[in-house]
Amino acid sequence: MSIMARIQCKCGELLWNGQTPNESLLWVFSDRKMCNIYEQDSIDTLSLYNLIDYDIWKCPKCNRLYVFEHDNPSNTVKKIYKIEEMNYD
Ligand SMILES: [Zn+2]
Repeated sequence: MSIMARIQCKCGELLWNGQTPNESLLWVFSDRKMCNIYEQDSIDTLSLYNLIDYDIWKCPKCNRLYVFEHDNPSNTVKKIYKIEEMNYD
């Protein structure tokens, strides 16, 4: 349902959203919106889609997250998150 696009991850992996379904694209909305959804008896899929705040692409190779604003038609990356190294003792 979103604009088809592709970006090259900083690790070199090519990401694109043209294959559906996939495990790379995540839809995110706030807890406040989730509470609004719970309060409704039912919600149609278009209404649910319109509640999304961010589209997040996850690189399958390095797990970086690329954050897009859902309502931004320019579809440009707003934030990039990289996993920090840490020891899990
Ligand atoms: Zn990557």
